[in-house]
Amino acid sequence: MEQGYEKVWSGCLKVIKDNISPNAYNTWFDPIKPVRLKNNVLTLQVPSQFFYEWLEEHYIDLLKKTIKKELGPDGRLEYSIVMDSTYHANQPGPFTVHAPTLNKKALKNPPITIPIDLNKDMGPGKGMPNPFVIPGLKKLNIHTQLIDSYNFENFIQGDCNRLARSAGLAVGQNPGKTSFNPLLVYSGNGLGKTHLVHAIGIEVKNHYPEKTVLYVTAEQFTNQFIDSIRNNNQNDFVHFYQMMDVLIVDDIHCLAGRPKTQDVFFHLFNQLHQNGKQIVITSDMPPVGMSGIEPRLLSRFKWGLSADLQVPDFETRMAILQKKIRNDGVEMPQEVLELISSKIDTNIREMEGALISILAQSSMNKKEITPDLAANVIEKFVKNTPREITIDYIQQTVCKYFDIPLEKLKSKSRKRDTVQVRQLAMYFSKLYTKSSLAVIGNKCGNKDHATVLHACKTVRNLLDTDKSFKKYVDELENIIKIS
Ligand code: ADP
Ligand code: MG
Repeated sequence: MEQGYEKVWSGCLKVIKDNISPNAYNTWFDPIKPVRLKNNVLTLQVPSQFFYEWLEEHYIDLLKKTIKKELGPDGRLEYSIVMDSTYHANQPGPFTVHAPTLNKKALKNPPITIPIDLNKDMGPGKGMPNPFVIPGLKKLNIHTQLIDSYNFENFIQGDCNRLARSAGLAVGQNPGKTSFNPLLVYSGNGLGKTHLVHAIGIEVKNHYPEKTVLYVTAEQFTNQFIDSIRNNNQNDFVHFYQMMDVLIVDDIHCLAGRPKTQDVFFHLFNQLHQNGKQIVITSDMPPVGMSGIEPRLLSRFKWGLSADLQVPDFETRMAILQKKIRNDGVEMPQEVLELISSKIDTNIREMEGALISILAQSSMNKKEITPDLAANVIEKFVKNTPREITIDYIQQTVCKYFDIPLEKLKSKSRKRDTVQVRQLAMYFSKLYTKSSLAVIGNKCGNKDHATVLHACKTVRNLLDTDKSFKKYVDELENIIKIS
């Protein structure tokens, strides 16, 4: 075997570094490992299929040039992909030949090697014509529901969101043509899921104005579906969604416990996917942690890429705030921004809330924005914003409110009043915590997830029909929120 692959690659890197931005270099070239050089073929190990596709698409010329420079005119390049569990090949196209099924077993297999082919046609072909498009219905009339300011330009990049953002950008520029179909973005509250998926939609519209893009929340989707049943126009509902080139469904976890909606979404998903249409979804959990969603749907979610958004570090939080005030055309001392970024460190939405409160305080009271004023507002803000609400806290509050001992709620007792209190605790836990139904059930009298779902449904029904019930549930909710 020829030696010196590391030297060859570092020679390439020198040139590459001079030709692209440091950011791009860090993202796309730092993670590459040269692994061998044989018969004038340099093999590079990349962390995922995503990388391979991205490099092929964006840096192939640069790579080609540098390889030729180092190895001469017949120098060649080959990729070796180390599979990670988040990627699942499902696309027809050049890759599946080499990567038949990437299930768990594949993780143990040696990395897959894909020779570079410079003449290859990238990605699957155009989707088949959709037989369900209603003739005469103008595609362009569909309102995308996209919010302009939620674009990529305004979405600050940081370590917390690098993969999700890059994958989102790739999808936005090439909807339905990357392996990230569906692209699933997940994170806790207020960390940018909604913003990012809007940005994808906007990016698609910028590149392909003729494409039909739609953003909906899973809640809207469910309501439309229910309405369509009520109005007996389910076919229209289905046809409408089948027209989408890019369908973005936000907060998919809200479909939990709604088997009929899941069923219709499942068929829609298959239809769109088969026709090469892009699906983007968000969720508060990775697919493995989602409860109340049918396994066959969960397995579809794992087909593409799941990428998470994490809590941004201090610098990123600062950058987000700076961007925000610049966009809003306001000025604020650096010190104040630093104060906000350091005091509010888990949720971007709360950070923006504090910023707005400070602006409001200063303009209403005609006071200058000083660190003192800011500290004051932030202190109140942090105090008044519910910290994380836990199942334990909810149980205590509900028991105290109805004056029953906590042990009773946690027991298996089936007495009517205990059951109702327990159901409320389950309902609020589902509403205010990120715990799975199974965990909630387990903590509330060792019940299973179906019992929790039933409890949530019962409470919702009562809320709709029983005024006095609603009154004390509202009261209780206020107490829980002011924790
Ligand atoms: P989620 O859907 O995860 O609850 P959102 O997308 O609603 O969160 O984000 C909450 C707020 O934070 C929005 O105003 C959004 O613009 C802002 N935000 C989140 N991430 C970023 C980011 N990386 N750069 C700039 N603003 C961000
Ligand atoms: Mg959201």
